[in-house]
Amino acid sequence: MTVLVTGGAGYIGSHMVLALAEAGENVVVIDNLSTGFSSALPEGVPLFIGDAGDENLVENVIAQHGIESIIHFAGSVVVPDSMRDPLAYYRNNTMTTRNLLNAAVKCGVNRFIFSSTAAVYGNPDQMPVAEEAPTRPLSPYGSSKLMTEIMLHDVGSAHDLNYVVLRYFNVAGADPQARIGLQTAGATHLLKIAVEVATGQRAKIDVFGTDYPTPDGSCIRDFIHVSDLAQAHRAALTYLRNGGGSTTLNCGYGRGYSVLETIEAVRRVCGRNFAVHYSDRRPGDIMTMIADTSRIRAALDWTPQYDDLATIAAHALAWEEKLAQRHATDALAVSA
Ligand code: UDP
Repeated sequence: MTVLVTGGAGYIGSHMVLALAEAGENVVVIDNLSTGFSSALPEGVPLFIGDAGDENLVENVIAQHGIESIIHFAGSVVVPDSMRDPLAYYRNNTMTTRNLLNAAVKCGVNRFIFSSTAAVYGNPDQMPVAEEAPTRPLSPYGSSKLMTEIMLHDVGSAHDLNYVVLRYFNVAGADPQARIGLQTAGATHLLKIAVEVATGQRAKIDVFGTDYPTPDGSCIRDFIHVSDLAQAHRAALTYLRNGGGSTTLNCGYGRGYSVLETIEAVRRVCGRNFAVHYSDRRPGDIMTMIADTSRIRAALDWTPQYDDLATIAAHALAWEEKLAQRHATDALAVSA
């Protein structure tokens, strides 16, 4: 019984691979390394460098390794990029998944877990937002994920394939032992930027909007620790292996923190003050995004371990410090 993880060398995918490997599962990875790092994989995990939409590659990997389930992370994730180049997003997210599903159906793989996003909701009418809320994505990124969800629904109806769609809220933090974390250059996520400022790699952090009708005027997000998210996927895998039917689940903690509270948490764990700049609202931002988590808590045997902003900030910071040290060592080696 082997699990195929596409995008396993990326931020969330690598935490998934680690969680599976630590649980004694056989796991293989397909990743084109466009944003991932082979160094993020535990020793001994086979990596096939290529595209998750390359049906020949996928079919060979399925046959060679006796794949029984696919966890599909590979894709593009930057919302503003999707605005500039929507067709790239429909290719990387929607078409790639279409080909991957074609290979899965052809080869009889009948369990599939898909990385979706809270961006499928757009601007929800009600908060917290539940899975049955209307889906009105505001970006090609959200649309490309929603189109994949629709495709999965149709494939699941026509073929012997059960799936779990996981709609991620704000994924943050890093492996508690700082073995892996977010290392993509130019990441725009709030916590990543805050820890880059805390470690002196950036001069300041901008707070995009302090005039929202929220308690402190800044936006509110539901942050989920990346290791808890990986464990939610493991629980989804167990659910499917036990015969669970296809379903769509929000992945968050059901609790919101403001942008200012998040920055304050990073300040506290790093023990230093750093420059915060109050800026205008960022176009397209949704004021508050909090998951209704009733369905995931009822469906899966999943208990979050790191549901605490200070812990998420501490893990993100520890990883960032390690990464900064690594960059400094690399720079020294180049100049020597
Ligand atoms: N944000 C901010 N400064 C930054 C990055 C993000 O104030 O440098 C805010 C952003 O406006 C949003 C929240 O933090 O309100 C979360 O943004 P992020 O890009 O991390 O995730 P999103 O919720 O947009 O997917």
